Amino acid sequence: MTDRVDSIRNALRDERAETMALIEQLSSRLDAVIEATADSSSDDEHDPEGSTLAVERGQLVAQLERSRVRLDELDAALDRVGAGTYGRCEICGREIGEARLEVLPAARLCIGCAMRNPSRRW
Ligand SMILES: [Zn+2]
Repeated sequence: MTDRVDSIRNALRDERAETMALIEQLSSRLDAVIEATADSSSDDEHDPEGSTLAVERGQLVAQLERSRVRLDELDAALDRVGAGTYGRCEICGREIGEARLEVLPAARLCIGCAMRNPSRRW
């Protein structure tokens, strides 16, 4: 059991590190896009490069938002590992299947509850 907890903790930490690296990448890309947008002349709304940048900017902001939510979820999952409640569904209290945890290590809900609560992503 201790081994399992250790490997879960390591998997969560790895994923957390990857998410942090992704956030950094996305942030610096976003900065570059914002800078490029500021450089392009603002009175030419039909500038194809300008609209491509606007689309990319929107995508980057959305990706960043998702990555930050993910980071919070991973932190919360690490807390649950520490508290010994990791792997239990927050709604019904049953164990979350291992296959599900492998795909979604930060899952809060078992598959049944997740399907009944589609608004909750985890
Ligand atoms: Zn459940």
